[in-house]
Amino acid sequence: MFPQKSRTIKVAVIKGDGIGPDVVNATLSVLDAVQDAVKGLKLEYVFAEAGLHCIPTYGTNLPEETKQILMRTDCCLKGPVTTPEEPGSPRSAAVQIRTMFDLYANVRPIKALPAVPSLNPNVDMIIVRENSEGMYSGIEFMTGKDSAVAIRLITRSGSERIARFSFNLAMKRKKHLTYVHKGNILKITCGLFKESVLKVSKDFPEVSVDDIHVDAAAMNLIKRPESFDVMVTTNLFGDILSDEAAQIVGGLGVAPGANIGDSYAMFEPIHGSAPKYTGMDKANPIAMILASKLMLEWLGFPEAAKKIEEAVNAVLREGKNLTYDLVPQDIIPAKCSEMGKRIAREIKP
Ligand code: NAD
Repeated sequence: MFPQKSRTIKVAVIKGDGIGPDVVNATLSVLDAVQDAVKGLKLEYVFAEAGLHCIPTYGTNLPEETKQILMRTDCCLKGPVTTPEEPGSPRSAAVQIRTMFDLYANVRPIKALPAVPSLNPNVDMIIVRENSEGMYSGIEFMTGKDSAVAIRLITRSGSERIARFSFNLAMKRKKHLTYVHKGNILKITCGLFKESVLKVSKDFPEVSVDDIHVDAAAMNLIKRPESFDVMVTTNLFGDILSDEAAQIVGGLGVAPGANIGDSYAMFEPIHGSAPKYTGMDKANPIAMILASKLMLEWLGFPEAAKKIEEAVNAVLREGKNLTYDLVPQDIIPAKCSEMGKRIAREIKP
């Protein structure tokens, strides 16, 4: 948790590309309303660029100037960015920022929302994805003309660190943790992850622990999603399972995420830049708005965070001013900006 101080908090704001600028602008209108409503909350937005559109100008998707801005701010609110896929192209800007600040815990809450179809109305879980190693270590190379290798780096320190973070989170919730792995096949890497979780579990005797293979976890997210509370897993498994879990509660448009380190954090939606909707003011801003709610919690403003959650829920219950993904096809959807403004108006002092 960021130590709350009575001063203006500097937030690096990266609008990103694709639908990023639309969902970030909608979120800023909500954050402006929250600052009017909550005494003592003062945010200074420091705008910075990242994403595919930066490459022609800066030769990189994360310009040096942006890195400097990140280093002199308290946290980052980041819209989605498009990542080039050609071999040799820059790494994802999101992954670079996670690495730069060692944001090792990717926290992805999955919670049923009012009036949004969900597989089960009682779904309320958090997926904690190890964010600094695993299949996203970036160690990948050709071993010959027709073969290639990616290294899945798992360390004892990285695994114990994410396990401890997750057990601490479980202690604040239902004291139930599920760890997800594929130890029957990846006996050494997942074996080390399992061993680390079980070692840390000894420090948390009050937390009940379930062990599940990743394929069974994917099935049970559909079959009985309400049975999970805190789920911890390695990088790639967590990325895939959290997209699946987002779909259970209404889709990628409503699922936020936080990337937490020991002294910095970045908040973003789970979803990507959906390039086909660029400039259409069409995307659902809720995931990004709820990411800003996670930011306010981390900054130590739970009251302000609650106001955002309540405003989102009120607008969903009202059932008007909703984007295309939340309404039947025969209803004219709201634009992203309209939904953002409607949520902002719902923020009460
Ligand atoms: P995506 O999440 O961008 O989009 C998949 C589909 O989900 C979209 O086509 C759209 O139908 C739907 N969707 C996503 N967000 C939505 C929203 N807010 N409202 C309504 N519908 C929404 O995934 P993708 O197509 O695999 O990736 C596109 C780009 O985004 C890629 O370049 C990828 O690398 C990047 N990406 C970035 C991040 C990040 O910045 N952290 C995360 C994931 C993907």
